[in-house]
Amino acid sequence: MGALHLAHAEQAPPADGNRTKGKGGGGGETFADFARQVYNDQRATPLAREMLLAFGFATMVAHSEEACDVHAVWKTVRHAMGATRTGREWRLNQAIAEDAPGYSSGKDRSRRACVAPRLRPHPDGPDDFRNQLGICGTLADWEHYAVEKQAGTGWYKYRWYCKRHLDHLVRVREQLREPNSRAPEPIPNRGGLLPVYFESDWVTAYRTHLGLPDWQPPVYGISADDWPIPGVEKVPPRARLRLAAVDGTLLVETPGGPR
Ligand SMILES: [Zn+2]
Repeated sequence: MGALHLAHAEQAPPADGNRTKGKGGGGGETFADFARQVYNDQRATPLAREMLLAFGFATMVAHSEEACDVHAVWKTVRHAMGATRTGREWRLNQAIAEDAPGYSSGKDRSRRACVAPRLRPHPDGPDDFRNQLGICGTLADWEHYAVEKQAGTGWYKYRWYCKRHLDHLVRVREQLREPNSRAPEPIPNRGGLLPVYFESDWVTAYRTHLGLPDWQPPVYGISADDWPIPGVEKVPPRARLRLAAVDGTLLVETPGGPR
């Protein structure tokens, strides 16, 4: 059984005294409402969805009248999700680590077409992608790419170059050095869902489960709802369930195996 670790949360509101069975602290929201939100949340991976539902079940159904029994809440969630296939770890530990906000640059190694400009038409005809895009199109080696960081989002765009066009690569890398240095920290595009639905000391929880004591939340915020992703409308703040709070102190359990 994992040890308990106390973490104080500054933003913790006073305990909600109006809890009734089957309802959470989120303004009388029912578990069914909560589950609907989670199922409709396109950002959630299957594992994240399972974890959110387990936390929702633990706080709104299983322990709705024992707001203080934080050990029971965590235990319920751990057991609801079970152990990993090896039996050495709780799946909850893995799910929390995977929910740590971050940016995946989506480097697609199967699409390494050289983007150097095509000077003569390729003999495969006008419909060939190399002629359509006006690029060389030869497969590039793994390491022969330049990263362009997008001005608004900080997201990465990869430009690949084949062996014949390494002079282009050198030039492009040089050209991108300065604009890249001005690009913002990439807007996160994965994780950050626990803070959307539950209030707790998630910075400590992520640090603990990642095994990275120095991990820092994104400058854009720890909750996925706060990230200014282009084309995604900002979500109005929703009522979050308070997770395992005692007298304004939120508890985070350190990861441990199922023994
Ligand atoms: Zn090329």
